[in-house]
Amino acid sequence: MTSVVWFRKDLRLADNKALINASQTTERLLFVFHINPKQLLDKNSLNQAAFFKAVSNFREELIKQGITLNILYGDLETSFKKLKAKVAFTDIYFNVAEQGFGKERDDTMRQFFIKELDVRVHLTQDGYLHGAQDILKKDGHPYQKFTPYFSRWQGKVPQPVITYKLSQQQLIKTDYFPMNLPYLEALTKTKNSAIEQLAFGHTQALVRLTDFIQNQLADYVKNREIPYLDASSHLSRFLRTGEISIREVYQKIAELPASESKDAFIRQLAWRDFYNMVAANHPQAKTVSIKARFDQLAWENDADAFSRWKNGTTGFPLIDAAMRELKTTGFMHNRLRMVVASFLTKDLLIDWRFGEQYFQEQLIDYDSANNIGNWQWVASTGVDSMPYFRIFNPLSQSKKYDAQGIYIKRYVRELNELPVEFIHWPAGMTTAEQKKYNFDLKNDYFLPIIDHNFARKRALDVYKKV
Ligand code: FAD
Repeated sequence: MTSVVWFRKDLRLADNKALINASQTTERLLFVFHINPKQLLDKNSLNQAAFFKAVSNFREELIKQGITLNILYGDLETSFKKLKAKVAFTDIYFNVAEQGFGKERDDTMRQFFIKELDVRVHLTQDGYLHGAQDILKKDGHPYQKFTPYFSRWQGKVPQPVITYKLSQQQLIKTDYFPMNLPYLEALTKTKNSAIEQLAFGHTQALVRLTDFIQNQLADYVKNREIPYLDASSHLSRFLRTGEISIREVYQKIAELPASESKDAFIRQLAWRDFYNMVAANHPQAKTVSIKARFDQLAWENDADAFSRWKNGTTGFPLIDAAMRELKTTGFMHNRLRMVVASFLTKDLLIDWRFGEQYFQEQLIDYDSANNIGNWQWVASTGVDSMPYFRIFNPLSQSKKYDAQGIYIKRYVRELNELPVEFIHWPAGMTTAEQKKYNFDLKNDYFLPIIDHNFARKRALDVYKKV
């Protein structure tokens, strides 16, 4: 009996449910990863390059252990038909997607395997501590609010990490599709050198987790909101590729002594489960506001304003620093994701879908459920979202979370020579002050794109109308 293990966002051997399931029940195993051209983004996408670098790294790690990952490329059904023509497999194992494009694909492919290829399908939920259907209200309906969801979530113990060993005799070592390797290679290419410096793989993810536990977790509550301290775990990019299992992350944190920071971190992991559940229950949420009336909002959608937001040239130093961090590194601190998303939707009145799409291209931790859920939260259009009248003030956020302007100066270099009193709002400098510091707002930096007080009132009016 020969089985295929189809890897997707679970790029690891350790604690991989589909793989464990397959290895315990089958004689011969063949590993595959499928590249679907229909799913590909623009070739300049940092998200995409980082994802395929993780795939490529996984393949190389497997080779070191004498294991082959066959790369399929092209139309899904044709690719698996070609595979079946080469290897007469009877079973296929994969960790199922519960929402988004992945769910549609899995629903279709499940039928295809059974009906067209006469192959048995074995599905497992591996990507979340609790799957989309696991935490429901007593009446069986999904939760709309995070707080009650979280109390129920806390009452359920996640499955433990499973350790196991693959037998070399089980593994099929032939690479049936070497002609597809150049496609994979091409997808890892990007002009952005920051990505070249990233390390990938389960070992790296563990190094990150261990370092976080030893050096940052104790002060997570105190420091996590301060962008220049960069005190969060940075595990998101490993979680979205599945280079580390969520159960392994949870277990290593859960076994630590009780602390406020430990609780706060685990709560963040619950948000991840929550948004997976929300996405599963709102399959159209990438294109439709969950609170449908907000699709009547009179957005301005000014193309020039959108471009200035993306390029970090709005004249609001904190916004510009955050957007430049995103563009150069593919990452942005959580607090700043909220601030820039609020600025785009409420100050500039640009539809949240444009921002969500841009984040999809840029974020190396891009995860559709998290991104859409959080964008709709900030835009006040989603489940349990921020009330529409809560609008972040970019200036107060800047003074509160980057008091000394350390973060701003890291990315908005043209403000490096300004004293702290002007760093948050250079537009407030008089002509004499500009002269004194040899700084010309218009030529050395940017005039503010908008007046926040005007923008706030305008947003309130527009939101109130719906
Ligand atoms: P930590 O603070 O160390 O948190 C640990 C883990 O908890 C994260 O890795 C993540 O898996 C989860 N988590 C933390 N915060 C959230 C949250 N608000 N929602 C869901 N899960 C969370 N996160 C993504 O993983 N992918 C995205 O595409 C994404 N887009 C976002 C867009 C916006 C507008 C906003 C406001 C937030 C977005 N987030 C997204 C959530 C959050 O910003 C990131 O998960 C976090 O910054 C990643 O850094 P970290 O791993 O160091 O987080």
